[in-house]
Amino acid sequence: MGKKRKKKTYNTPKKIKHVYQNTPLNILKSINNPKCPECSNNMANHFNRYTCSKCQICILKKNL
Ligand SMILES: [Zn+2]
Repeated sequence: MGKKRKKKTYNTPKKIKHVYQNTPLNILKSINNPKCPECSNNMANHFNRYTCSKCQICILKKNL
């Protein structure tokens, strides 16, 4: 039989597991994106253009 051991006491508080934070802001940003003239799908915002993932249309940003 093993020796009875005193239960270990932790001096530091338990680590809090990283909780995934849902970011609805990204969704809000995508709403502002222009819609595709072909399929009215929200277009992806790129650094110099907007693209449609459905029909591969790309619109260049004018104000550059
Ligand atoms: Zn499209």
